[in-house]
Amino acid sequence: MKSGQKSREMLRRAQEAIPLGVNSNFRYWGDDKTLILKRGQGAYIWDQDDKKYIDYRMGFGPTLLGHAYTPVIERVKEALDMGNAFAMTNEYEISAAEKIKKLTGVDLVRYANSGTEATMHAIRIARAYTGRDKILKFEGCYHGFHDYTLWNCQPPIPGAGYRRSPVLVSQGSGIPHVMGQLVYSIPFNDEELLEKKVKEKWGDIACIIIEPLMGNTASIMPKKGYLELVRSLCDQYGIVMIMDEVKTGFRIAKGGAQEFFKVKGDLVTYAKALGNGFPIAAIGGKKEIMGEIGWQKIPHGGTYCANVVAVAAADATLDEIARGALEKVEAHGKILAEGLRNALKERGVPGVVQGPPSMPGVVLTEKEEIFEYRDWADSNRDAYGEIILKLFEKGVMPDIDTREPWFPSASHTDSDADVAIGAFEEAIKEVIG
Ligand code: PLP
Repeated sequence: MKSGQKSREMLRRAQEAIPLGVNSNFRYWGDDKTLILKRGQGAYIWDQDDKKYIDYRMGFGPTLLGHAYTPVIERVKEALDMGNAFAMTNEYEISAAEKIKKLTGVDLVRYANSGTEATMHAIRIARAYTGRDKILKFEGCYHGFHDYTLWNCQPPIPGAGYRRSPVLVSQGSGIPHVMGQLVYSIPFNDEELLEKKVKEKWGDIACIIIEPLMGNTASIMPKKGYLELVRSLCDQYGIVMIMDEVKTGFRIAKGGAQEFFKVKGDLVTYAKALGNGFPIAAIGGKKEIMGEIGWQKIPHGGTYCANVVAVAAADATLDEIARGALEKVEAHGKILAEGLRNALKERGVPGVVQGPPSMPGVVLTEKEEIFEYRDWADSNRDAYGEIILKLFEKGVMPDIDTREPWFPSASHTDSDADVAIGAFEEAIKEVIG
């Protein structure tokens, strides 16, 4: 797949001012493929060459309701007329925090501007609360762009060592080696390795930070009892459990993964779907921990935290969620996931479509079920990557990164699913036969 003429021209122009012409490394798809977008409406986006796509990236997941979604835009416009940056508490932020508490059951909430910031703050809070410095994370889980967690997010296999004693690999240069000394990383879904690590190292471990399902590795689900094990080890050893719900929060259930899996974190991080695409994030959690945030105790803050536009967007998004928007997302996701699964079956291509309907992940694998990043790394990623490029040609856009789930929204229609499934079937035919 090649991008259109105008996208290519504009990318060249962008590259004169912006490294690679993108403002997040994940958005650079190569000089010939990187798209420059013009606009979005509902479930659709248009590139600079006016090519229309059914969007299943939805900006890496945030746009839960749809692009330019009227009730959110109206609330934001109302807020804009009042001024947008006071760095003082405003009514929208109180109202949205009350709604977050109601939907998720957390006791207290602080805002941030991105998922990266939310997990960074959550880790600091956990360190302060426990008086310990190290974190335990999982291979293939991603928690944002800070140095604390850019380890074994997407390690090369081979290169990350034996799975029982993984080698720690940073995401790239510029991440101080010394930060790696604060990180333990183990494969997801391995109860024995988890218990072993915690029993050996608990005295150092401030928090276990976990994506409750692997939203950054094709929506691999936790095994039955796995999150419960994390919970009970945290309780037993005085470790803070951070559920990173940046992808799952307000998407897989009103109360996110805590509701879906019936396991509660001590701290929970939210971003993406919370603001339907506006830059907002939140750290929620137990009063016992969150109540300790304060001057000369646990630092947290930022000029733009709870800026009026972002909290107004969250306030409106949460109203839509409370009104039942997720039912639409889930209903569409069910049709989509089932269709993708059937298409693989009909073409005789071994693979799994896994995860909750609101964020299904596709992996071309001979295995009936997959449990960790190394299973994904071992799959037929190249073929799936080629299928994705064919989908772009046909006007259907999941993310180009084969680790990303598909993200349906409340604006997708049954006919969008039909088109996407048909295109997927044709693409399989063209790539695999
Ligand atoms: N945590 C998880 C689970 C994520 O998926 C992401 C982003 O994809 C982040 C944190 C970082 O969020 P942001 O891109 O808003 O900084």
